Amino acid sequence: MSVFTSRSFADHEEVVFCNDVDTGLKAIIAVHDTTLGPALGGCRMWPYASEDEALEDVLRLSQGMTYKSSVAGLNLGGGKTVIIGDPRADKTPELFEALGRFVNKLGGAYVVAEDVGTSVADMESVRQSTRFVAGTSEGGVGDPSPATAWGVFHGIRASVRHALGKDSLQDVYVTVQGLGHVGYILCSHLHEAGAKLIVSDIHDDVIEKTRADFGAEVVAPDQVYAADADVFAPCALGAVINDDTIPQLKARIVAGSSNNQLAEDRHGLALRERGILYAPDYVINAGGIVVISHEGPDYDEEAAMDHVATIGDRLSDIFVRADGENSPTNVMADRMAEERIAAVRAARYGVAAE
Ligand code: NAD
Repeated sequence: MSVFTSRSFADHEEVVFCNDVDTGLKAIIAVHDTTLGPALGGCRMWPYASEDEALEDVLRLSQGMTYKSSVAGLNLGGGKTVIIGDPRADKTPELFEALGRFVNKLGGAYVVAEDVGTSVADMESVRQSTRFVAGTSEGGVGDPSPATAWGVFHGIRASVRHALGKDSLQDVYVTVQGLGHVGYILCSHLHEAGAKLIVSDIHDDVIEKTRADFGAEVVAPDQVYAADADVFAPCALGAVINDDTIPQLKARIVAGSSNNQLAEDRHGLALRERGILYAPDYVINAGGIVVISHEGPDYDEEAAMDHVATIGDRLSDIFVRADGENSPTNVMADRMAEERIAAVRAARYGVAAE
């Protein structure tokens, strides 16, 4: 295993390998960049096939958090934790308390939150041994999904305005892939705004509920890409924008909550070449981290959700600049994230920003 020369190292500030014999905890905490503030990022628990796989994942996700907070305009850096283990078999409160002790040793450089395979309850256990934890239900904002859905809704509005020239979602057709925590709430906002819904999931109960509540049309999971809609909103899986699906897309816009929607970066260019507007995933799905940045004793939910709604404005900036430079929107988002960090570093260290 190599760290400094790893494919995803990307100049990380700190990588901590955590081993707790008593609880069996094996975790890696990666702190990518704290230029803008403390590194905030979730803790993923996954039965990784190898330590190398866990390391690559944490490094990649941690850098992603740096970019997400930077573009969202937050004074937060990027970090992430992975726990090597099966979330259905290996979880104990003690394991998460042990993780909290490692987080605590970082002295606030890194703040942990929930992610795939971990829950708000697990973060309550982490809180037993550190205050550097976000998104708990006590003193925290809890489940981020409503905020994520609210941000995606405003992102879809901004995308529709830019690509279709419409200020309203009335009678705009939106395909929502995945009716889980985010997808279902997104459907409720879209329905309220007058959009027509086409939905898909692999579970009948959520499909029936969405059909009954919002009059949604249902399509089979393998038919979502070709659905005759204005917007395709991926809210289930990653890598759904790929060589197979792009030719099927009828929608003029891809805008949804899923992480890592593009199978590869080049698919951002492929969308642009087909005249499909792509709302970069980490920009449109930043609602959770935006509300977490408001956490504290004076937490004001309305102010936090108003802040989340500005995700639409951030996307509009990206769309305009991407058009101006004839650049894919995912490339432009990365550039804007890097520019903000470079400007702060330049001001701090007195060197010219690149
Ligand atoms: P979830 O697990 O609650 O919901 C996912 C839904 O997708 C489930 O209903 C599942 O049955 C469905 N699904 C799975 N495979 C499918 C398929 N092939 N076709 C159609 N539906 C399928 O997850 P969530 O919290 O709603 O998150 C959705 C996506 O958004 C994930 O990619 C997640 O990483 C991302 N995301 C979520 C948040 C959040 O706040 N929850 C924040 C940022 C990003």
